[in-house]
Amino acid sequence: VRAKGKALFNTDLQAIRFSGILQDITEQKKDEVRKNDFIAMVSHELKTPLTSLKAYVQVLMRKANIKSDEFSAATLIKLDTQVNKMAGLINSFLDVSRLDSGKIHLDKKEFLINDLILEVLETFFAPVIITPLHFKPGPDLTVMADREKIGQVINNLVSNAIKYNVGGMPVALSCHKEDGKAIICVSDQGLGIKEEDLPHVFERFYRVNDEQGRSISGFGIGLYLCWELIHFHDGEIYAESEWGKGSVFSFSLPLISD
Ligand code: ADP
Repeated sequence: VRAKGKALFNTDLQAIRFSGILQDITEQKKDEVRKNDFIAMVSHELKTPLTSLKAYVQVLMRKANIKSDEFSAATLIKLDTQVNKMAGLINSFLDVSRLDSGKIHLDKKEFLINDLILEVLETFFAPVIITPLHFKPGPDLTVMADREKIGQVINNLVSNAIKYNVGGMPVALSCHKEDGKAIICVSDQGLGIKEEDLPHVFERFYRVNDEQGRSISGFGIGLYLCWELIHFHDGEIYAESEWGKGSVFSFSLPLISD
């Protein structure tokens, strides 16, 4: 039961009077569990055929005669980009269900943040993406973290900066050291987020419901995953934004030695 209102307590801190609304959230909880189970099941089923599809695309891309055929080569690059996008989405769904069942596992290794950012950015240099992406590598900062998961966080933030863009405005990435932590920022000059929506963007399944955002598809799990994954690494994640001007998403990770 969720309670919203005022309670009066006695000296033993026992509530003796309550005025407000009591809401039964059992059904809501059950609904969420059903939704999560369904997502987990569908994602598992989709993973196998998608892995095969990805392998076939790779085989075709490696075929010599395709390289001399510009149209086929360009089509295959587009196909590969879309298959990767779908694989990323399915992995996100699987991570949501792993988080739910407490089965998320971190495979921590040492790596340089600059290297990971460059690697993630490379995946965005497909001909279909017109947004200019700027990154000037910062100092060499070594972290001990799950490289794949942090890559997923950076990928989600850059994908959003591109998705909620306006007229191909540039997206900038940066990385610096502050109070013994690595700080990674992704800033855009896109739609921005209204003040009332900003505190909710990291909630699961939360999507801003305004005129501009409504036509942009999504599930509202990208930022939720970023939040969970960064907190699992003992880091913090923040969103700053001005409606109509743009947004800055930044997160911190503890540095290996300081
Ligand atoms: P999705 O993009 O699938 O809806 P996310 O969890 O990634 O889910 O984001 C939640 C919401 O936060 C989005 O629906 C969008 O309204 C808002 N949002 C996220 N990133 C940005 C951004 N860079 N600029 C403007 N709005 C954003």
